[in-house]
Amino acid sequence: MLKVRGISTYYGNIEALHAVSLDIAEGEIITLIGANGAGKTTTLMSICGLTPPRSGDIEFHGQSVVGMKPDRIVQMGLVQVPEGRRIFPNMTVLENLELGAYLRRDRQGVRQDLDYVMDLFPILAERRTQMGGTLSGGEQQMLAISRALMAKPKLLLLDEPSLGLAPLVIKQIFEIIRKINQEQEVTVFLVEQNANQALKLAHRGYVMENGRIRFNDTADRLLNNDLVREAYLGL
Ligand code: ATP
Repeated sequence: MLKVRGISTYYGNIEALHAVSLDIAEGEIITLIGANGAGKTTTLMSICGLTPPRSGDIEFHGQSVVGMKPDRIVQMGLVQVPEGRRIFPNMTVLENLELGAYLRRDRQGVRQDLDYVMDLFPILAERRTQMGGTLSGGEQQMLAISRALMAKPKLLLLDEPSLGLAPLVIKQIFEIIRKINQEQEVTVFLVEQNANQALKLAHRGYVMENGRIRFNDTADRLLNNDLVREAYLGL
């Protein structure tokens, strides 16, 4: 579904990604783990077209998306949930959700998806007229995921959905990610610092260090890899 081939991405003269390659097949949950500053967010932003790579290629369903406008990439079904949620605090829950669907023309489909996300997160239904900024951190993350679902993703890219949330809320969010993957057949690319939880959820994982992919393997094998256990799982 997604082929990332040797991308190098720069901030000015600084090369943040060095020939990064990864593959995601339809139906998978893939996680990208690594320390602070390893280049995880930059990888995700490169895929979304927000910080395009200077070299290498990114193919989605066989079509190169490098140089394509971010809204066109969203229309193709590649949708991100940004780090720090970035919901609109002065708009209601419902308005935030409607904004997620702004590129869609299938009004009936949008209504169905609105019902689906309200079922998925009943708390959002309860708070539909409340301003986004009044929600708790966990609820804002639910809203950010739901807003992305309103864009009808084929591949959902999540940037550190667990950031700053309590363990119980993280568990709830990760269970919902699994449900979205299974019920909606949405493929998931999960960027996480919480390596332990992410590898328990994912089918396969990539480990990033200093802008390079260091390991890639099944999630089970990464969970049992001594180097990964020591460096990322604190074991
Ligand atoms: P985090 O978990 O903190 O988000 P990360 O693994 O996602 O870390 P990136 O945010 O992708 O890492 O950062 C990769 C490198 O690029 C780091 O050295 C960072 O300092 C640098 N970097 C990130 N954003 C910018 C920017 N806007 N301008 C300049 N350098 C940047």
